Amino acid sequence: MNDSYLNNIKERITRILHSLPPGVLLVAAAKTRLPEEVKAAISAGINTLGYNYVQEAERIYEIIGTSVKWHMIGHLQKNKVKKAVRLFDMIETIDSVELAQAVNKQCVAEGKIMPVLIEINSGKESNKTGVLPENVEKLIHQISNLPNLKIQGIMTMGPRFGNPEDARPYFKATRSVFEKIKDSDIANVEMRYLSMGMSNSYKIAIEEGANIVRIGTILFGERDS
Ligand SMILES: *Cc1c(COP(=O)(O)O)cnc(C)c1O
Repeated sequence: MNDSYLNNIKERITRILHSLPPGVLLVAAAKTRLPEEVKAAISAGINTLGYNYVQEAERIYEIIGTSVKWHMIGHLQKNKVKKAVRLFDMIETIDSVELAQAVNKQCVAEGKIMPVLIEINSGKESNKTGVLPENVEKLIHQISNLPNLKIQGIMTMGPRFGNPEDARPYFKATRSVFEKIKDSDIANVEMRYLSMGMSNSYKIAIEEGANIVRIGTILFGERDS
């Protein structure tokens, strides 16, 4: 990994950061990236890292520390909740009462308040994590009284398409769930963040109201795995 390789990463990130409308947070989806690549991203202005696995995040955290924010963007397994609560500044992938309760319980033990997003399976794909759109409001009502969780919005992956336009209906549907919950003004629930859009679809996601985009490939290059 030479300087020009790392400079390319920095240039791509600088360009994308400048192109984003104000108020849109770029989460660098950093799975599989080496510490040097992550450091290059931070030096180009990245202030939030997204990880799919607690163990991988822990490894990089030991090197990078708290100079950036850490978002959990992958499915969180119950046996990883303890470490996740210690490490992450936000968990974007709450999709069940059980998981919410487990995170809350650990937060109580740690004396920590955890900002969380509810993950929606907007494509209603049977192999995907996330709560179905029609069940989101019920889930939020069930967990909104957990004292150490701060529900702050909605996240979705959406189906992966070759043509990013095809993702638009799923982003629209997610936005409408977001607005509906916002309008229903549930106690302790703040609908502030809408996290959707990846490398191929983030522009469309922003057009449809996303204010967090999670991007990996077009910052760092194609992943080997
Ligand atoms: C990998 C990943 C992304 C980013 O995907 P790219 O296509 O590499 O931009 C976004 N969100 C989640 C949950 C991911 O796992």
